[in-house]
Amino acid sequence: MVTERAEPAPRPLSITNALLTDGRTVTVRLADGLVHAIDAPTQPGDDVLDADGRLLLPAMAEAHAHLDKAFLAETVPNPTGDLMGAILAIDAARDRITLADTEERAERAARLIAANGATAIRTHADIITANGFTSLTALLAVRDRLRDLVHIEVIALSGWPSVGPAAAEQQALLREAVAMGVDGIGGCPHLEDDPAAANDLFLTIAAESGLPVDLHTDETLVPERFALEDLADRVLATGFPHRVAASHCVSLGMQPEAVQRRVAEKVAAAGISVIALPSSNLFLQGRDQQHAMPRALTAIRALREAGVNLAAGADNLQDPFNPVGRGDCLETASLMVMAGHQLPAQAYHSVSAAVRRLMGLPAAAVSPGATADLVLIPAASVREAIALAPAGRIVIRGGRRVDGW
Ligand SMILES: [Zn+2]
Repeated sequence: MVTERAEPAPRPLSITNALLTDGRTVTVRLADGLVHAIDAPTQPGDDVLDADGRLLLPAMAEAHAHLDKAFLAETVPNPTGDLMGAILAIDAARDRITLADTEERAERAARLIAANGATAIRTHADIITANGFTSLTALLAVRDRLRDLVHIEVIALSGWPSVGPAAAEQQALLREAVAMGVDGIGGCPHLEDDPAAANDLFLTIAAESGLPVDLHTDETLVPERFALEDLADRVLATGFPHRVAASHCVSLGMQPEAVQRRVAEKVAAAGISVIALPSSNLFLQGRDQQHAMPRALTAIRALREAGVNLAAGADNLQDPFNPVGRGDCLETASLMVMAGHQLPAQAYHSVSAAVRRLMGLPAAAVSPGATADLVLIPAASVREAIALAPAGRIVIRGGRRVDGW
């Protein structure tokens, strides 16, 4: 479990007129950062919040962001619209992107995501030789500045090559990032000449550092670029002791169904969480396959049926990797319904409980004893909340109202 900073306990909060998913309208009492009671009377001395019939749900959590790149769409356009176009556009613009600019955009993005109902965000920070520690320094500052608003994890996203003869400088940068206080190790094995060696390197550095791993895994439609199985095999063989997430896993969706199921079983056995990223994958992938264009999503059904912890994230926010996006986990949930064929409750789970689980955060739920990270949405059901994504949300973190913070 991640230990969040101890804060002075707020006064108990009674939320009146809260709509539950079972249709009841009740008072929910929060105390000591937890849900204390459902359908309980307000007690003297409690703060009282009238939910006015809003739907009370577990708070959402953003599984995969790049806060360092947020809102660059206007200044760093992607001329080809694909993944390499975005990467090359960012690389060409590095010397125009300052620390102060990165910090301002990252904080604006984090505040937007939090105001829309997320109480936790995992963001990746570019750790590449051309960028030094600009992204990391900015994101660590934002993480610490906003810690009373939203829990932010910063994953060191290693550039490439991270393995092979030209990798010494990149590896040194990654180890220095660990010393600066990152919350996890990341990289892009699918962009390396030897993806298996990259898996091994990232797991090794994470094991040495006592940190979890979140790798951009197989972000490609090319079926032969397929390192997820190797990652699962390594985790199983080594008994890697920390949390592991695999983001994207696009080429798993291009495998025959029997392969999908075999690998999904290994991923489940290894305890690896998979993060589907529908918005950026739908935007970036498939542009060179105009006939029968794939959806570019991971093998959601096989993963779910194997019991894998399946989360979903937004990835990029109005940058060369995704020129649109609202900074709203409900937008991702909507794509999980439409493009991922999930039921609304499954889609909501993938942007709430599944994300907290992969981040090692205690479960948030509308049930006694659960962490009181909650959101009130003016909607009659989870389905309607995803469909309308309405304004007027109230966000509660650790039993304390944080919208407007
Ligand atoms: Zn990403």
